Amino acid sequence: MPKSFLGLNITSFGENPLTHKKSSYQMSLALEIIKSINGFSRAKYSTWFYYKPDHILFDAGEGVSTSMRNMLYGINSIFLSHNHGDHIGGISGILRSRASSMGDITKPLSIYYPAHDRSIERLRDYLGETMGNLPFALHWKPLQPGNSVPLAANRRIEAFASKHIERILTLGYKVIEERTRLKLEYRQLPQQQLVQVIREKGKEEVSESYDKILLVYTGDTMPLDTHHIQGAEVVIYDATFVDPSDREDNTHATVDEACQSAKDAGVSSLALFHFSGRYRRQQIKDKILENIKKRNITFPVYYIFPTPYPMEFKQIEE
Ligand SMILES: [Zn+2]
Ligand SMILES: [Zn+2]
Repeated sequence: MPKSFLGLNITSFGENPLTHKKSSYQMSLALEIIKSINGFSRAKYSTWFYYKPDHILFDAGEGVSTSMRNMLYGINSIFLSHNHGDHIGGISGILRSRASSMGDITKPLSIYYPAHDRSIERLRDYLGETMGNLPFALHWKPLQPGNSVPLAANRRIEAFASKHIERILTLGYKVIEERTRLKLEYRQLPQQQLVQVIREKGKEEVSESYDKILLVYTGDTMPLDTHHIQGAEVVIYDATFVDPSDREDNTHATVDEACQSAKDAGVSSLALFHFSGRYRRQQIKDKILENIKKRNITFPVYYIFPTPYPMEFKQIEE
């Protein structure tokens, strides 16, 4: 049960002891990814997730700068899913903190956002007018579905269209790693013959490159087409509604839909977020467990609850 270091609990259900025992490889990659994500999410209040290995912040809801503090300097780029306040309300705090506290105040920052989003562009203009001269270069970069941004090594982040606001582009993001493998026709060949082919025709003859999806952040969305998350190690999936009848318009997925979609796509693990504040924790847990049983889910399912801040006054003591 991994715990994030910002005091937020990411907890798992349904860890598969068989997979765990058989090979640590598949499991450990998904688990490694889960462990390197920190964040906060509560529908309508705030959502943000920091993925440390690639220095990416997905969305920037309020409270992100006060929670991340010095870790803010780790962020290279922010990827915004859409213009709702609970996903962008923390941007000015990030800029202010990066400009003024201890750390590398000259490190550049890029903010990617859905192309032609006038609300985000108005926020960009407002911040530009009111923040004065920032000590670092700030780049606002619009993205279309299918656009990708290179990351370290063989990785890239790719934007895709999510299903959240009508007639306005909203985006989900996937971190993809380009890998190489043996072509199907050579997989059964004995080692010696394989070496012979490589000697004669070169490595390119026997190998092919393919994309492995390491991580998907859906943003706020209705259930996604399966191909967006196919075979992903970790999917952070909108699961706002526990009871489908609470959904009034088609803007968010339910726990049921997120679980079914992840199962159909053969993911290695699923992390549910953006729960509506109307549900008690136990209701959410019960619903997830019900899905695991009903759908015979064998991959681990994680959920994130916002941990309340300590808010009471404390009397000073000598
Ligand atoms: Zn939201
Ligand atoms: Zn939203």
